[in-house]
Amino acid sequence: MDLLNPKKGTTAVWAGETDRFFKGATTVPVVNSVAFSYEDLDEWYDVATGKTSGHIYSRNTNPTVHVLEEKIRLLEGAEAATSFATGMGAISNTLFALLGPGKRVVSVKDTYGGTSKIFLEFLPPYAIDVTLCETTDHEALETEIAKGCDVVYLETPTNPTLKIMDIRRLSEAAHRVGAVVVVDNTFATPINQNPIQLGADLVIHSATKFICGHSDAMGGLLCGKAELVKKVFSFREINGASLQADPAYLILRGMKTLELRIERQNASALKIAKYLKTHPAIEDVFYPGLESHPGHEIARTQMSGYGGVLSFALKGNYDTVKAFLPKLKLVHLAASLGSVSTLAGPPRTTSHVELSEEQRALLGIPESLIRYSVGIENVEDLLADLEQALAAL
Ligand SMILES: *Cc1c(COP(=O)(O)O)cnc(C)c1O
Repeated sequence: MDLLNPKKGTTAVWAGETDRFFKGATTVPVVNSVAFSYEDLDEWYDVATGKTSGHIYSRNTNPTVHVLEEKIRLLEGAEAATSFATGMGAISNTLFALLGPGKRVVSVKDTYGGTSKIFLEFLPPYAIDVTLCETTDHEALETEIAKGCDVVYLETPTNPTLKIMDIRRLSEAAHRVGAVVVVDNTFATPINQNPIQLGADLVIHSATKFICGHSDAMGGLLCGKAELVKKVFSFREINGASLQADPAYLILRGMKTLELRIERQNASALKIAKYLKTHPAIEDVFYPGLESHPGHEIARTQMSGYGGVLSFALKGNYDTVKAFLPKLKLVHLAASLGSVSTLAGPPRTTSHVELSEEQRALLGIPESLIRYSVGIENVEDLLADLEQALAAL
């Protein structure tokens, strides 16, 4: 990008788009071409062997997808970036590319449900040692990391109870033993938190969530140190979880408004969290922007906003959740987050559906918990909606 030190809102709009597109088009063309042709065989050879930049085959790289990779790279301040068909594609390809028989990964119990399943079921058969610590027990994490490991995998804030990990502190511990630090930054978004600036080596996003922002396309992104991104890219090129041009375009379009959306969602989520905190029908509210949140002090030092997701436990049990949720009018009861429209659901049917009730209890996820992903609606309407649904309980 040839602009001088652009701010994030500018980067989200312009990064990767400063070259002239096909016939002067002012939006990114959707290049739905599988292969790219060359009349000059020497040029073809140079592109195929990486001597010259260009595209050969869309499982490897694609011009539309490349613009998206440039946007996330610059928003996270990373050396390199690549992309995947889904967020889980990014996570699984990264873990399998960096780990192997005899290697060790240290992570936490509260990772995203799918990630947790990779740790508990898919890595161990490859003789990979997986150690999962209590999510906010930094001493336990430091002790396990100091024993030696290859990858330290973090996710902060976590899903669904918004726990916070100190990225600076844990990155220092990881680098003392030469481990690679990977952070799932999906909940924070690059607007609120930049893990690379805090010491992480790689950052992952489920672009399906806030980055796209409209719940109409899936994608995964990875950015960070060039040599590490290249390693994962080589694995993904062959394993084939590549992002296609059509969803890449939808994600790109969503990203233009990323800063606008996140600023609004940060403000609305904080207001809603404060409101719920004082409501008599609410047992507990989890939002890192609340001073009462145990991770608030760390969040204050590593996040510039606290994000659009909060969760709250109703006084009662799963039956209370079943009575409450259908009374909300301004939500989709659905298993996603980070959209322009408000989405809500219990972890039992959404993020942690893969786990049993006992496993969820072990993770400290109450059965009366509701995850509430604040959209861009007017916050007064969202507050009124919550008020009427709680009053009807
Ligand atoms: C949704 C999500 C994922 C998985 O992303 P998909 O695009 O659904 O594969 C990973 N991590 C977090 C924190 C998520 O919320």
